[in-house]
Amino acid sequence: MADRDCRVAVCPGTFDPITSGHLDIIGRACRFFDRFYVAVAENPYKSPMFTLEERQDLLRKSVDGLPNVEVITFDCLLVELADKLGANAIVKGLRAISDFEYEFQMAQINSRMDSSLETFFVMASTEYSFLSSSAVRELGIYGGDIRGLVPPQIEEDLNELFRRKFGRTGKGA
Ligand code: ADP
Repeated sequence: MADRDCRVAVCPGTFDPITSGHLDIIGRACRFFDRFYVAVAENPYKSPMFTLEERQDLLRKSVDGLPNVEVITFDCLLVELADKLGANAIVKGLRAISDFEYEFQMAQINSRMDSSLETFFVMASTEYSFLSSSAVRELGIYGGDIRGLVPPQIEEDLNELFRRKFGRTGKGA
């Protein structure tokens, strides 16, 4: 297949940390593309709780088993990243109405900068529509139970990170 015929997507986010909702979107969307890049934004101005390396590591473990998915990091405009990767699609998850306004604005700005780039929105599954990284962070800080809210393969790693950072296990202890 010629490279220009290859369906390449980039799925950006802060992933601070990845949740079951993110993984649900990645798993459902990656089937429609040949190559699917999950791009972790450095986002220092958002002061993420987890380092870029920690966020990338948790994502890598979570997508293990999805053969066309690659986890990368970036610290530039999304359109620049897409151009560098040869991606013609941006994939975003959409939860409640509250996500819509911001995502609609971003999609329009990106399309203005590169009209060949299309943004695709994947609706959140009902069970994850109220799940956010910030909810997981809040639970983790206070030792709440994060089971089911994050991919099972990273639950222990994440509990360990919470324990190291806040002295709690994230298991309701
Ligand atoms: P958050 O908004 O939780 O901090 P990110 O900045 O990492 O997450 O968002 C990356 C993308 O994932 C955004 O498009 C966001 O709408 C989407 N997303 C986040 N949580 C969920 C979820 N539970 N279900 C579906 N999509 C989600």
